[in-house]
Amino acid sequence: QLPEIASPTRTRAIMESYGLTFKKSLGQNFLTDINILNKIVAAADVTPEDDVIEIGPGIGALTEQLAKNAHQVMALEIDDRLIPVLADTLAPYDNVTVVHQDVLKADLVELIAKNFDGKHKIKLVANLPYYITTPIILHLLEAPVDFDRIVVMMQKEVADRLAAVPGTKDYGSLSVAVQYEMDAKVAFIVPKTVFIPQPKVDSAIIVLEKKAVQTYEPVDEKFFKQMVKGIFLHRRKSLWNNLQGMYGKTPEIKEKMQTALAKVEIEPGIRAEKLTIAQMVELADALVNEKI
Ligand code: SAM
Repeated sequence: QLPEIASPTRTRAIMESYGLTFKKSLGQNFLTDINILNKIVAAADVTPEDDVIEIGPGIGALTEQLAKNAHQVMALEIDDRLIPVLADTLAPYDNVTVVHQDVLKADLVELIAKNFDGKHKIKLVANLPYYITTPIILHLLEAPVDFDRIVVMMQKEVADRLAAVPGTKDYGSLSVAVQYEMDAKVAFIVPKTVFIPQPKVDSAIIVLEKKAVQTYEPVDEKFFKQMVKGIFLHRRKSLWNNLQGMYGKTPEIKEKMQTALAKVEIEPGIRAEKLTIAQMVELADALVNEKI
């Protein structure tokens, strides 16, 4: 019986036997702590009822633990050097499919239809490549896939932004984009010492879950999303100034904006970071109503 892929000795042995170096440009920091991997799998509550997508399996450390707990696992890896390695390291698991694919170019709906049976919940679990954390999160949220849970590791400071609440310095358009779709919370912090090679900063596991309570339904979702970007564009400017920057300063526009703000009882002088998502939806609806 081989030790877990995640053990530091086996990780080094695998890299050596294939003559591989870690590619910094692809965010290759591999996890070598089985306890952390178990905690990730537990945070995702992976069971045989779940089909799991993994982004960036590396040499298969997390994939192995997912395979032991899930129904099916599909792992998307961009680095062609790792494809034959994964075929070897994951050979003992018959419920894993490795796809050689850039996740940002992947059609997840098509891949899911091809590799999963449609009868299981879909979860996404990954130790993300840090250089593209935000684009990956946005790509996942945009995909028309009904994720039951997304559990991902990222730099701690990005995780803090995703889970931030109104009125804090971390709260911004990324927090809103994520929390508009899902409930977000930081599950635990991971020290940089458990990776080979060590990254510069600590990491955090974030859990995104399908909304249990409130779902937002703006009358014009596209307008809402554009407005959110606009009101956070200049963080130190007031809501009013950012709105003017977006929609204009003519007396007619100003009057419409004033009417909309008064209707939803929001002070024009505040900053966007004070607003809840529900308030932003109300404001967007009021602006649409004024035909701005
Ligand atoms: N899952 C492994 C672990 O936890 O040890 C490796 C995680 S490592 C932080 C990130 C992985 O993502 C690397 O294997 C890297 O090659 C892969 N990767 C980087 N960019 C990618 C992309 N655009 N699409 C898919 N995989 C990518």
